[in-house]
This record gives sequence, structure tokens and C-alpha cells, in this order.
Amino acid sequence: MVGGVTTVLPFVITRGSYADVLADMQRAVAAESLVDMAFHAIIIRESQIAEIQRMAGEFGVRAFKTFMAYKGREISPSGIQGMGDAEIFSVFQEVAKIPGGVAIVHCENMELIELHQKPLIAANRQDTAAWSDGRPVFGELEAIRSMVAFAEAAGVQLLIPHMGIGIGSEMLRQKASGRGRVATETCPHYLAFDKDTDRGVMGKVNPPLRSAAHADALWERLTDGTVDVMGSDHCPFTKAVKGSDLWTARAGITGGSAMILPVLLTGGVNRQRLTIERLVELTSTNAARLFGLYPKKGALEVGSDADLVIVDVDRQVKVDLPTLHSVVDFTPYEGYVARGWAATTIAGGQVVYDGGEVVAERARGRYLGRGGQPSW
Ligand SMILES: [Zn+2]
Repeated sequence: MVGGVTTVLPFVITRGSYADVLADMQRAVAAESLVDMAFHAIIIRESQIAEIQRMAGEFGVRAFKTFMAYKGREISPSGIQGMGDAEIFSVFQEVAKIPGGVAIVHCENMELIELHQKPLIAANRQDTAAWSDGRPVFGELEAIRSMVAFAEAAGVQLLIPHMGIGIGSEMLRQKASGRGRVATETCPHYLAFDKDTDRGVMGKVNPPLRSAAHADALWERLTDGTVDVMGSDHCPFTKAVKGSDLWTARAGITGGSAMILPVLLTGGVNRQRLTIERLVELTSTNAARLFGLYPKKGALEVGSDADLVIVDVDRQVKVDLPTLHSVVDFTPYEGYVARGWAATTIAGGQVVYDGGEVVAERARGRYLGRGGQPSW
């Protein structure tokens, strides 16, 4: 709601069987959420690959994320664990059978990370740039190219998530050849921040923040067709959960979901780097099409859900923690001066956020697991 968000597509994860937990997760949406949700499922185990068809058929899950890095000492406390090429390709083959299915892959080359991190760890660097330099641009691009090739072979629709590389990512404009299709997502932190402004552990995210030159070029990638959709990669960590040592803390930018719209308005629309029409495509239309929710979502048509945001393009907001209405107790967005903010958010015809406050009185969110036909 804050930041004009009317639909959330969170990643769900379990170490066990999804069949055991998805029904409860769906019930939690109806009981607690103020806005509609659909799930993306994270696949971390070979046994879960066999569950993919059932998750699609019974629970309406259509997007499945796997991870390339996150191996060895990188396995996350949240359970995120990387997979090898064979497992990832097997996931692609399963997702390709689902009408409108989307395979999402966290693209980073683990071996190149190990090599590049070694001297930085030995020097006990704790700055944001060290986190970035340990995960080189070419290792991310190499991983992306590899996954595009896999997608072409499997004939699957692939989403490259959280891509922060502005220089060298233009090749994604071409999308995939053959039966594969590729969409690309970026997130507000790659546009708002760069690696050389040291935020210590607060700037630790995977893939990492890049240089200011990459961030500048990324704005062009939003308009030239390289980037199709905006995500948040929102990680609601508190300081205690995140940790304070660069090499062991959890990766993730805190407080991102509310900042997609303000960052695009501030750095894009109000600096003539982005049209408001393109902003609507990036935040709404394209995402709704990609995940099979169009035209219920992402359109203002007869029969569409009345999900709207009224934007004040000139409103100036200096971001602090209460502005974000999140559980986080720290965020790199603290002090960010936005020009452009959501004035009123309407979800399903109900005002849920107005004048900086959450005004929804009850949970009204629905689980959207069975969306419309794929139209991407
Ligand atoms: Zn990821």
C-alpha cells in the first residue's frame, strides 16, 4: 500500500514439502493481507522438483525460483541453497510444461565469487564496495548468458530477477531465440544507490550494488527495452537478524517495496529519464502480463480489479522509518529525499493508504494463485 503497491508476489520457501505448507500460506493471505498476493516458490531441493506440477495444478503457483550461487558457506540461514546446472535445467523442463510458467534464476557464478572474495576476506574489508567487488560484473553476466541458453533449450519463459548491471546487459534486449523467452527485472536499490557510497553491511545485497556508471546506464536500460519489470527484492530484516559483519551478515536491502515508485518518480520521471507511461508498464502492465494476472491486474478496464494509485509527482518526502510502515529498524533509504510519492492507494476499490497512513481496516487481500491466461 505504501508506495502505491496493490499486489504483492512474495517468494515462499520451505525445506520440506510444499504440499504440506502452501494451503496454510494461502489461508494466511486471506487472514492477514491488506492487498492481493500470488506466490513464487523457491526450489532448493531435488525432491521439490517433483512437486512442481502439483504446486501449479493444485495451488496455482506458476513462478519458481532457483539459485546458482548460495553454495557452501553461502547457504543462507533462511534455507536458500544454490543448485547445480542439472537440477536447474530439470526445473526449467518442469516449468516449461506449465501454461504461463516462469522460471526465475538468481544468476551469479559461485566459483568466480570464491576467487574474488578471498583477498577481500583476508583483508577483512567491511565496506559496501568490497561486497560488490567480490561478486564481479562479468560473473553475473556469464551466469545470465548461461541461463538464457538453458531457457532456449528447455523452451521455458525465464525471468532474470534483480539485475543491477547497466553496462553490458544490453544483450538482454534481444531476449532469447527459439522457444525460450526472457524477461528482465531490476529493483529500486540498483537505481538509487551505488557501491562506492559506503553503507557497510547495510548495502550488502545479492547481486551486489554496482558503480554509479552502472546505475546511470541502468536508467537507459529501463527505456530501451532491456528491463521489463520492477521488483523490490524487499527483505524485512531487523538489524539483529541482518547481522553486522560484512562476510556473515544476511544479504538483502531492507525496506524496498515502498520505494519502487518514489525512486522511479524521483530519479526517472522528475529528471526526464523516464516517461510516466513507461513507469506504468514497468510497475504494472508488464508484471501483470508476465505472471498471468492481466487484465484483472495491470489495466484499467471494465472487469479489472479496481487497484489504483493516485500519484503526487511533486510531493517531497524525506524518508525515515515511520514513512515506510515496515518492521525494519534500519534502511539505506533513511534520509533519501523523494520527489514524487503515492498520495492514495486503492486496492479492490477500497482506499488502503492515504496521506502517508495505512487506513485499511481489515484484511481484504485474496490469494491470486489461479490467474488468467498467459499473455506475455
Ligand atoms: Zn535472488
